[in-house]
Amino acid sequence: MINLILFGPPGSGKGTQAAKLVEQFKLVHISTGDLFRYEMSNNTPLGLEAKAYMAKGALVPDSVTIGMLRNKVETHPDAAGFIFDGFPRTIPQAQALDALLAEKGTEVTGLLALHVDDEEIVQRIKLRGATSGRADDNDENIIRNRINVYKNETSPVFDYYALQGKSQSINGIGEIEEIFERLSAAITQLQ
Ligand code: ADP
Repeated sequence: MINLILFGPPGSGKGTQAAKLVEQFKLVHISTGDLFRYEMSNNTPLGLEAKAYMAKGALVPDSVTIGMLRNKVETHPDAAGFIFDGFPRTIPQAQALDALLAEKGTEVTGLLALHVDDEEIVQRIKLRGATSGRADDNDENIIRNRINVYKNETSPVFDYYALQGKSQSINGIGEIEEIFERLSAAITQLQ
């Protein structure tokens, strides 16, 4: 099994690249942001709980997020592997993911972090906001809050997997196709 964490700040291109990578490597894509938006659009109790956090650009509590992730992984017992996009975003989430994969006799293969500077991120998210319809993409304060949350709560996950020798930084600036080639080359090395 190959289990990849696609990592990086909001707006770094994780979703775009994950969609291309799952085609190429035949993996299952799990995006916790997409899962929350799906729950919200269906007004489920989980969606209603996540809504207030997402609207502020804060993280949804770990207990909620980890439970949802576990359920999703369990709906794919025959997967050749997963690409986790937007998860884990905290150290407890990383520990929960390691435990879940260990139960299945597998582990995280590697973490690939897309590196994009703050000003480029703000510009990209604002551009996306024009078509995404996401409230959290249309307010510069919320965008900057998400970047701060990434720095404070999420970036330690890079170091957590670096200690296991699994983290790599990838240049996230350039054409979509160029970045895809960089990621694909790194994944091929991991296989
Ligand atoms: P982006 O990467 O552009 O911020 P996402 O779709 O990954 O977009 O996430 C949108 C929002 O969903 C986050 O700001 C957060 O509120 C919530 N969210 C997504 N994934 C997680 C997670 N793993 N833990 C907690 N909250 C999450």
